[in-house]
Amino acid sequence: MFICDCGEIFSSPEVHRGTDICPGCGSKYFDEAVQCKVCGEYVSNDDAYGYGHDLVCRDCIGNRKHDLDFLATASSDAEDFELPIIYRYIFDDDEINAILYHAAKAKQERGDLDLSYFVSDYANDIAEKLCEEEK
Ligand SMILES: [Zn+2]
Ligand SMILES: [Zn+2]
Repeated sequence: MFICDCGEIFSSPEVHRGTDICPGCGSKYFDEAVQCKVCGEYVSNDDAYGYGHDLVCRDCIGNRKHDLDFLATASSDAEDFELPIIYRYIFDDDEINAILYHAAKAKQERGDLDLSYFVSDYANDIAEKLCEEEK
């Protein structure tokens, strides 16, 4: 997909005298477009952050930076809990922990994830952590 400053989004440019042009305004200056994973809008490559299929547009990042629902949406397709690289530079450690927790919980609620092995393997660690928090 491509996107032009005039707002036109198109899958293939028009060809005019051997030059690729925007079908909307005829400009030959247009960018490759990528789809934002959160809002679904096509944006210029330059306005998207992340890698591979985890591209998020500048607007979504700006507006919803600390919205955990947004993050769960953005990470819901992830194969595992490896966070899109983008999170590592816009969030601090506490926020990332909150995101992981949120994503894990959402997966568990959908039945995609069985955390029972985790609880049995790490029961002592969890108990310790809880005791610490009660202090
Ligand atoms: Zn145009
Ligand atoms: Zn977006």
